[in-house]
Amino acid sequence: MHDGCTSVFTERRHAMHRRQLLKFASTSAALIGLPRSGWGQQSWSINPFSLGVASGSPTSQSLVLWTRLGAPAIQAAGLTTVAIAVTWQLAHDRQFSRIAATGIIQAAPTLAHSVHAEVSGLEPDRVYFYRFIVGTATSPVGRTRTFPASHSAVNRLRLAYASCQQWGNGFYSAYRHMLAENLDFVLFLGDYIYEYPSSRPIEVRPTTGGWITTLDGYRSRYALYKSDPDLQAVHAAYPWVLTWDDHEVQNDYAGIHAGVSGTPVADFMARRRAAYQAFYEHMPVTRASFDKLLSAHADEARIFDCISFGRLATLYTLDDRQYRDAPACSPNQRTGSNRVDPEKCESWNQPQRTLLGAAQEAWLAQKFSTMQGQWNLLGQQTLFGQRNFNTTGGTLLRSDGWDGYPAARRRLTDAILQTQLSNPVILGGDIHENWVGHVLSDYNNPESAAVGVEFCGTSITSLSNSTPERLAQQLKTNPHFIFANAASRGYGVVELTPKQLTTTLTAVTDASDPNSTAFTLAKFAVEAGHAAVARL
Ligand code: FE
Ligand code: CA
Repeated sequence: MHDGCTSVFTERRHAMHRRQLLKFASTSAALIGLPRSGWGQQSWSINPFSLGVASGSPTSQSLVLWTRLGAPAIQAAGLTTVAIAVTWQLAHDRQFSRIAATGIIQAAPTLAHSVHAEVSGLEPDRVYFYRFIVGTATSPVGRTRTFPASHSAVNRLRLAYASCQQWGNGFYSAYRHMLAENLDFVLFLGDYIYEYPSSRPIEVRPTTGGWITTLDGYRSRYALYKSDPDLQAVHAAYPWVLTWDDHEVQNDYAGIHAGVSGTPVADFMARRRAAYQAFYEHMPVTRASFDKLLSAHADEARIFDCISFGRLATLYTLDDRQYRDAPACSPNQRTGSNRVDPEKCESWNQPQRTLLGAAQEAWLAQKFSTMQGQWNLLGQQTLFGQRNFNTTGGTLLRSDGWDGYPAARRRLTDAILQTQLSNPVILGGDIHENWVGHVLSDYNNPESAAVGVEFCGTSITSLSNSTPERLAQQLKTNPHFIFANAASRGYGVVELTPKQLTTTLTAVTDASDPNSTAFTLAKFAVEAGHAAVARL
């Protein structure tokens, strides 16, 4: 199909052309047997666009436009159980004088009155504006863009990577500063919500709803997070490319194995399906990735994907949560993260243990060999390189990340080497600390060749409990890293040209201040052709 990087799953995208969509809109409510509200001028006593708008999953030809009608507006209008017709418009200009595509979607109660307009047939490398209209209400205007065509020469790409936005740990000032970054897109690497009932030890704003374990609970949690004006603004400013981590379901869950937080539920897989459905309902992602989950109650939502940004870059978004084996050597069969001495854990190095799952691993190796940009960005959940926490001689590794799956990590670096992947750059989140370093071909041999570079981002708000002293010792113990910082909340911006990568880490001064200023924490550069990162 289009970008060469498209997987079989995205080829089945339910992308619809404008005319098909209009046809769909006029028949879908009857087909799915739902009553629907009239087409007329439904007036609203409460703004139905209280959760904002978003766009995402960009390709060179398509975009997903998203909104969800807010539950309070729908309840006040007495429309809780009916499908509601929502018009979407995509235009070349902010005034909507030149409409590029338009259609009508039935926002169904079975999907929390969410709207996903999957628009295809667009022009590559173009800025578009979009909005939604329902009755007398018009949404805020979003700005978005398509990616350049896969064969085209591209001089520049700017993306921000972000993760971990625990609601109560802080305000989203980081996102407000992102608005001025002139990005092509935002890459979100997981922990969009947290399932916790509160955000201790710091709680600058209350989390409503307690522990979430049900579909309604996850929906309410997304609605809470999405009520934030800075988060809404950054969604409206740029398209987002997303993956998830553990807290979209439960802390430290591993594949089919429940995590550790909160009271266990009787059926973890039902909880996971509910959480995955709520993710779909609240994100600008494609129906194809969730179709089996939503229509056939399958357990899987296949979100791993890749997309090229012209010849300059290929972006792989991975899912290291859904398919992973249980962590090794958890005491008393308890799942979740532990610090383990691999010498005392027989299963630690078992070759069959997987983090990505066999299907995703095979897919990734195949994509590496057929689809490379000048730069190859791997957007995934967590720190990739080995971090030995025992800074006094022994070894102590975290079981919940790549360190807990060394054979799987080795297969990935081997695939990078075997396919001679051009300029690999691994981007991560999860640990609430900035780490920058070199990806080694063999972490058991500190002298082994670097095969790429790594930037693991801090959090938007979520806390780290590490200290500068501990990080300094860890850097000494793990010299493939050149920088670590646990003190700052914020995001990273990666700018690529054919010859150079520059990463700028931006930090907010005080995440507990909704009006926080921001500053540059550190800057790094990588020259194309050299797996070496230098601090500027
Ligand atoms: Fe997190
Ligand atoms: Ca996490």
